[in-house]
Amino acid sequence: VSRVVLVLGDQLSPDLSALAQADRDTDLVVMAEVRQEATYAPHHPKKIAFLFAAMRKFAAQLQERGWQVAYTRLDDPDNTHSIAGELVRRAAAHGATEVLMTECGEWRLRAALADADSYGSHMKVIRFSDTRFIASQAEFDAWAEGRKQLRMEYFYREMRRKTGLLMDGDKPVGGQWNFDHDNRKPAKGKDLFASGPLRFDPDETVEEVLALVEREFPSNFGALRPFWFATDAAQAQASLDHFIAQRLETFGDYQDAMLRDDGFLSHAVLGLYINAGLLDPLKVCQAIENAYENGDAPINAVEGFIRQILGWREFVRGIYFHEGPDYTLRNALNHQRKLPQMYWGGETRMACMQAAIDQTRDEAYAHHIQRLMVTGNFALLAGVAPAEIHEWYLAVYADAFEWVEAPNVIGMSQFADGGVVGSKPYVSSGAYINRMSDYCKGCHYSVSAKTGEKACPFNLLYWHFLIRHRDRFEGNPRMAQMYRTWDRMDETRRDTVLSEAQQTLKDLSENKII
Ligand code: FAD
Ligand code: SF4
Repeated sequence: VSRVVLVLGDQLSPDLSALAQADRDTDLVVMAEVRQEATYAPHHPKKIAFLFAAMRKFAAQLQERGWQVAYTRLDDPDNTHSIAGELVRRAAAHGATEVLMTECGEWRLRAALADADSYGSHMKVIRFSDTRFIASQAEFDAWAEGRKQLRMEYFYREMRRKTGLLMDGDKPVGGQWNFDHDNRKPAKGKDLFASGPLRFDPDETVEEVLALVEREFPSNFGALRPFWFATDAAQAQASLDHFIAQRLETFGDYQDAMLRDDGFLSHAVLGLYINAGLLDPLKVCQAIENAYENGDAPINAVEGFIRQILGWREFVRGIYFHEGPDYTLRNALNHQRKLPQMYWGGETRMACMQAAIDQTRDEAYAHHIQRLMVTGNFALLAGVAPAEIHEWYLAVYADAFEWVEAPNVIGMSQFADGGVVGSKPYVSSGAYINRMSDYCKGCHYSVSAKTGEKACPFNLLYWHFLIRHRDRFEGNPRMAQMYRTWDRMDETRRDTVLSEAQQTLKDLSENKII
């Protein structure tokens, strides 16, 4: 039988399970740039360009290795603009009756490719699990079975044991599993400016794609140029090597820090490459472990980094599929606000929000603490509907794919899953942002002002959040202290805080500039 082999835009790995099962002499690889995928969210132009350029280069590499590839460009006049449509069209032309595919990472697309009927023709669909993940879904589900709470830390330890990463026999290297207490340093002072990620000048393929994206997606939020992402495995590998040589050493120390003039600090900026398949997560972890063994980076940096990939990345993927297709619809705190215009580039007087959003617009990137404690924190405090903020994150980051984005947004950041991913909501007043960043000193608001015209909106909304959800969170031992602080506050002051917070929320509803 002749077969078609589907390779999706985030499956750009030569040892993809579907390719491993295929025959390069008789099977046809199908890759397609389709409107349905390019528009299910209003993706950042840099994200679209990154994926299309990486797909084109991957297709060319497969051809060099002897594969037959049917590649559909977005502006191909015969393009049916859906993955299923392209599979049917290519299969018919090739005389194929079977499709091989590696299970895709999203409920939406899984449903669209679920069975032969959804193709409107009778094709046999053979699915393989995505072996690029270190834990299989069955393994995660077995781990999760019967547990009252799913906590990343315990899953991570299992993954350390399974892979032997940073293990000394059955003991963790350095005598402890987690060195996070060393990793909370604020960023203050210019000596911290890091070299940033490796940047690549656009080659001919990239230029072609940039022109296409400029033409086809002229009004999507985000700056297309300058475009500097890696778009093939060799460049992604060079980015990893550069990170290890230049920034890994300080990754742990400044993981939670934020600086107005350095949006990258010591972060790896590798998530987009790993998620698209240009880098293998296990090999990345092994390279990081090597750096430790060679004495090039301290244990707190190396353990902290490996935990992000071996722990968090694997854990959230397990959660996404474990929780089922309705996960993105959850709204445990019943938040209903529309996403404020400032997220799409509208004006704001909050320097921290401005910095995180400007950087997101320019780079299709913000690091974890900006996502969690600035844009995510504000949305949660302001009571934005989780589905609205979910769509924003899915659109604006080059590394955003639903399996990883949704648990981070719906779960970790918005607590909309009611505590599956995190045991308490990530909310803070302005004090946290001030401690970890240099944003506040250039802000219209005063971080030390708790009430009054200059009061930092994070300060006001923080209390409003805690009070409107008192019933749910008061009993949480990790939050009880905050309720005691509130109760000790003078009553008139409490009234002022709540009425000013109410006014801020009203201003947001009326699209006033906050
Ligand atoms: P680094 O900080 O250098 O970390 C190294 C690597 O660890 C990352 O490349 C990534 O592969 C992995 N990693 C770190 N944290 C996480 C995490 N929480 N979950 C999964 N993997 C992690 N990550 C995405 O890949 N796609 C998303 O769409 C996404 N959306 C997010 C939304 C919110 C609200 C939050 C709080 C986090 C989100 N994350 C997402 C997780 C994390 O912020 C990004 O993986 C990270 O910022 C990517 O940049 P980096 O490569 O410089 O990461
Ligand atoms: Fe953000 Fe408040 Fe600091 Fe301004 S004062 S930068 S709004 S935390």
